[in-house]
Amino acid sequence: MRVHVDPQRCQGHARCAALAPEVFELDENGFSTTRDGVVPPDLELDAGKAVRSCPEDAISVTLEDSAVHA
Ligand code: SF4
Repeated sequence: MRVHVDPQRCQGHARCAALAPEVFELDENGFSTTRDGVVPPDLELDAGKAVRSCPEDAISVTLEDSAVHA
């Protein structure tokens, strides 16, 4: 599983970083970034909660061959 934050959509609510701090971090302006986008299996549950919590629909998820926009 991989995640990507669309910088055009992210508004810096920080919900993602609060729910999955190992996956999402905030830059100096408070907008979310991912380290390398790769989500280890043990963090997928938290990452999924973060994706669903994003009010801007800014986080996309890639599962193997298919891309799903949360
Ligand atoms: S919850 Fe969404 S809008 Fe808020 S910081 Fe995370 S990616 Fe950006």
